[in-house]
Amino acid sequence: MTSFEVPVYAKRGLTVVRGKGALVWDDAGQVYVDCIGGHGVAVVGHSHPRVVAAICRQAERLIICPNTLDNDVRRAYLERLVSVTPPGLDYVFLANSGAEAVEAAIKFARVATGRTRLVAMTRSFHGRTMGALSLTGNRKYRDPFTPLVPDVVHVPFGDLEAAREAVDERTAAVVVEPVQGEGGVHPAPDGYLATLRALCDRAGALLVVDEVQTGFGRTGAWFAVEHWQVIPDVLCLAKGIAGGVPMGATVVTERVARALKPGHHGSTFGGNPLACAAGLAVLDILAEEDLVAQARAKGEYLLAGLRALTSSQVRAVRGLGLMVGLELRTRATPYLRRLQEDYRVLALPAGPNVIRLLPPLVITYEQLDTVIQALQEVLET
Ligand SMILES: *Cc1c(COP(=O)(O)O)cnc(C)c1O
Repeated sequence: MTSFEVPVYAKRGLTVVRGKGALVWDDAGQVYVDCIGGHGVAVVGHSHPRVVAAICRQAERLIICPNTLDNDVRRAYLERLVSVTPPGLDYVFLANSGAEAVEAAIKFARVATGRTRLVAMTRSFHGRTMGALSLTGNRKYRDPFTPLVPDVVHVPFGDLEAAREAVDERTAAVVVEPVQGEGGVHPAPDGYLATLRALCDRAGALLVVDEVQTGFGRTGAWFAVEHWQVIPDVLCLAKGIAGGVPMGATVVTERVARALKPGHHGSTFGGNPLACAAGLAVLDILAEEDLVAQARAKGEYLLAGLRALTSSQVRAVRGLGLMVGLELRTRATPYLRRLQEDYRVLALPAGPNVIRLLPPLVITYEQLDTVIQALQEVLET
């Protein structure tokens, strides 16, 4: 057990002290290609100079401003954010994490529909707080903490028949990740989200899409729902939103916003000017460096490289943009350790058998080659 910390994290035995772009350095000065990227947070790369400048500038002006008071930077941020979210998603609640973005979605869905039932997916991940955990499909995370929030039904991800059976006039919302991340990098089958949209419309339920991991260019679109031209009622965002500064957002339609009244929800730190300034810089960088298109092109390059791996250990290669999973025939952990220690490549697990890559969108092709080559060598022995 490490001193001072409760032992809830599986430690990797590495102390990281500095980052730049898609690289991080340890305390001995060794450099690593970082496909963990703060669990997919570092979309614009570590310590992007524009994010750093925005944070420093804002820290000198104003760090906290409660939401009962308006703030120039928060206002500018909200306007910019809704200019990139899908049409009709024009109202934002700002929080501090992905789980909180999901918590708000649960409360908003209850208020907007007057119903309590939530339909979520097997293998899903929505966060660790009690509400978000209630939606999360993984038994390992849920079981120690029952009873959870009642009236949550889980159906197999991708199974339209099961969804059709589960969604009815008691359903407040269907909650889904467009690409399941933690659950093993599973993109939604074509037509799945559109049919969920139709089922929700027919039942008067809301479609809540959790883009905490897939948002802000990660999958080669601003938001992954765009790949299937589906517009949700509620969009949950976090991770890449503010260059590593904690922030979450729940973006809703006018129908949902109209149901909400003062006192229904709130957050002390949510929407603080420091995070908003960082969030504005991220939106600028994504647009000006054309990182969304880059994620698409680099993702295709990475997927092609991984599909060409000759190892018999590889069972499947899946992904969308720079959200990529390599499913193995055996446990991923020993390979992740060797990638880190012998090749200085950092990658994530997603379930027991999947190596997940969530590199910054600014990763270079040369760095992607390093990752592909390291995987080739690690997996052939
Ligand atoms: C990471 C994640 C969350 C939880 O975000 P936190 O900021 O860790 O609370 C929720 N949903 C999805 C899809 C995620 O990937």
